[in-house]
Amino acid sequence: MQSALTKTSHTVYPISVPTKHSLQSFNFYLLQEEDSLSLIDAGMNNEENWNDLTRTLHNFGFSLEDVSRIIITHNHEDHVGLVNRISSIKKDIPIYAPKEAIHRLKRDPQFFKMRIAFFKQLYEEMGCGIFGEKQVGRLIAAANQHEKRRVDADIIPLTEADLIAGLQAIQTPGHSPDHMIFFDEKRKWIFGGDLLIQHISSNALVEPDEDGKRLLTLIQHENSLKKCLALEADVLFPGHGELIFDYKKLITERLNGIQKKADRMLKLIEKGVTTANELAQTYYKHKYESQFSLVMSEIIGHLDYLENHQKVTKELKDGVWHYYSEVK
Ligand SMILES: [Zn+2]
Repeated sequence: MQSALTKTSHTVYPISVPTKHSLQSFNFYLLQEEDSLSLIDAGMNNEENWNDLTRTLHNFGFSLEDVSRIIITHNHEDHVGLVNRISSIKKDIPIYAPKEAIHRLKRDPQFFKMRIAFFKQLYEEMGCGIFGEKQVGRLIAAANQHEKRRVDADIIPLTEADLIAGLQAIQTPGHSPDHMIFFDEKRKWIFGGDLLIQHISSNALVEPDEDGKRLLTLIQHENSLKKCLALEADVLFPGHGELIFDYKKLITERLNGIQKKADRMLKLIEKGVTTANELAQTYYKHKYESQFSLVMSEIIGHLDYLENHQKVTKELKDGVWHYYSEVK
């Protein structure tokens, strides 16, 4: 069992469910204030996560009935997994999530239809061929599971600077377009979702906005890390892995890591690699096939970064983007 952290009448009870996945654990948190108990994120939808939630409640003298609200950092399935199960038992429990998460959590059919078309075009323009087509096939298959996965209950939208359970909502897009962290200024606590993870760098996943325009997710992620760097806190409670105490040092490492990776990709472009797909295959080798969508997000994100720093230019030829080093 995880130990609780108490500061000036508020207590955090971490729930950390181990996984064999490189994420190490699925973390979510019970936050007790004077007169309420909030659940921050809601794990994966499986028995292990459910048992760890109910066991933690029980061990600290609570029951599900005592949970006053659920607060969600972002729409990913490993953060909202138990929402439906909880709200089917404790009816009318308020569920708070970033405003930008709602159409995704509700599995809005129009949005997801557009999103599939978005990725189809994106992978074509990045020169991905058959591997892009396979990934689009996976997205179509995933859309068929949407009825099972949608969040049933009403969701209360959160926007920048909203206060909920004594926490300040701070928009930190990049890992996902809707991502938020929650800051308790008084206790110097940050509930960080997937913005920062101790043992691995958080991926900035390529996504469209609501109108189908591609978001510059790595650049967003970089800005979000800088936004977090400006906060003064003692502990960052992450969505995966260990609690983070020296988050400023880790953020600085992550920011340097983005720059180093971009520089390594620039070297390959200088050697004559021109498309995002060739770059992905050359840079990631065997991971290209096994982790296609993650790999393409990394490559496209770092190409955006290089373009933003005027290190590369791009040109559309026969429907495929080619990237060239600015310094010839
Ligand atoms: Zn996530």
